[in-house]
Amino acid sequence: MHEWSVGEGILRSVIDWAKENNINSVKRVKVAIPSFTFLEADILKEAYDTLKKGTIAENSVLEISFKDPVFKCRNCGNIFTIREVINEVEKVKDEFGEEYPLHLMSGLAPAFIKCPKCGSNDIEVSSQEIMIKGVEVNGTP
Ligand SMILES: [Zn+2]
Repeated sequence: MHEWSVGEGILRSVIDWAKENNINSVKRVKVAIPSFTFLEADILKEAYDTLKKGTIAENSVLEISFKDPVFKCRNCGNIFTIREVINEVEKVKDEFGEEYPLHLMSGLAPAFIKCPKCGSNDIEVSSQEIMIKGVEVNGTP
């Protein structure tokens, strides 16, 4: 269900942006999603395609790419990606099932993730936002 609220959020941003820029038809929307939100791209697309009907984004295609969040340990300075701590994240996912906290509050991630080098929980997360990377409008080459 999370996909639907994300889809709605993306669509709303695109529509607001288009209105501000006097654009009346959107062709393509590119988004980058942090991989550890575990959003299903297919469901997100389906949500977007359903929600866009009747809006200026009706004929647009949603293009989804995933990006790996990067973490920095404040204790030892180690920089690591989600791939290095995926087992810890999976553990949390198993415990909480579909609605596990990372889904809703990615800011909580450091509570579950330990630095693979020194074991500290003092972790900074970067690039965990869903980002609209680009919007193509009709008339764009
Ligand atoms: Zn560390």
